Amino acid sequence: MIMDDAVYDAYREAGALARRVLRHGAGLVKEGTGLLEMVEATEAMVTEEGALLAFPLNVSFNEAAAHDTAMPGDERIFARGDLIKVDLGVAVDGYIADTAMTVDLGDHGALVEASRAALEAAIALVRPGVAAGELGAAIQAAIEEHGYKPVGNLTGHGLDRYKQHTRPTIPNIAMAGGAVIEEGMVFAIEPFATTGSGRVSEAARVEIYQQIAARPARLPSAKRILETARPRRGLPFSRRWVPGDKVDIGLSTLVRNGILHAFPVLHDVPGSFVSQAEHTLIVTEEGCEVTTR
Ligand code: MN
Ligand code: MN
Repeated sequence: MIMDDAVYDAYREAGALARRVLRHGAGLVKEGTGLLEMVEATEAMVTEEGALLAFPLNVSFNEAAAHDTAMPGDERIFARGDLIKVDLGVAVDGYIADTAMTVDLGDHGALVEASRAALEAAIALVRPGVAAGELGAAIQAAIEEHGYKPVGNLTGHGLDRYKQHTRPTIPNIAMAGGAVIEEGMVFAIEPFATTGSGRVSEAARVEIYQQIAARPARLPSAKRILETARPRRGLPFSRRWVPGDKVDIGLSTLVRNGILHAFPVLHDVPGSFVSQAEHTLIVTEEGCEVTTR
């Protein structure tokens, strides 16, 4: 036995809940609905089930690919023509399911299908002995067949207990070699297809942070931030979750002091559209079990 039964069960439970909540959340993405309302309702579903959000619900618009979520008091409204990535992480006893889908409020059907087909092509290849670079090649080929570019500087990633990003790295483009897939590995595959440049850059705006060092803080707002971060056990949190005022000063101080890591919003070029599809899987003797399907 490669993986303890209780661990397997926790991964499966997290996967089933993530699948259910993601579908519900994606169903709330409708023209005229507010982003903040949709995010809060979706995040509440996870905590009401007694599970932990592995990271704040990511909702990224149009050319944004990842790491956006509702700001405090966010007034953004979903509009006709938008292409919305909804990316959810659920942890049960620390074991994570990470899954995403794209909601099309415009005419982006082929772009949505490109990332979905790429994800399925990669999943079909997963088994012990395959190199991660081969999965990247399948993703790139499927996206290019649909007439789009893969985002080359975003990748899938291994998952571990209370660890959102670990080995192996699963590229979204063809690469020589890479990690060799082994039975018992748990990882997320997440192709992004784009009409833009095929590379994402960091925006100035940051909504999501992660605590990376344990040191005391003196500023009252920094103390509140660390109180918000503490029960997360190193998992990312949202600026929106921190109560009180002067939060941004506290956040920038903690980043400067090496206590927090910032995850800026990641976007392709203005005017472009990016789609994403993501599942988490466990590698088995013969292939894999997708926990979030
Ligand atoms: Mn994700
Ligand atoms: Mn992921």
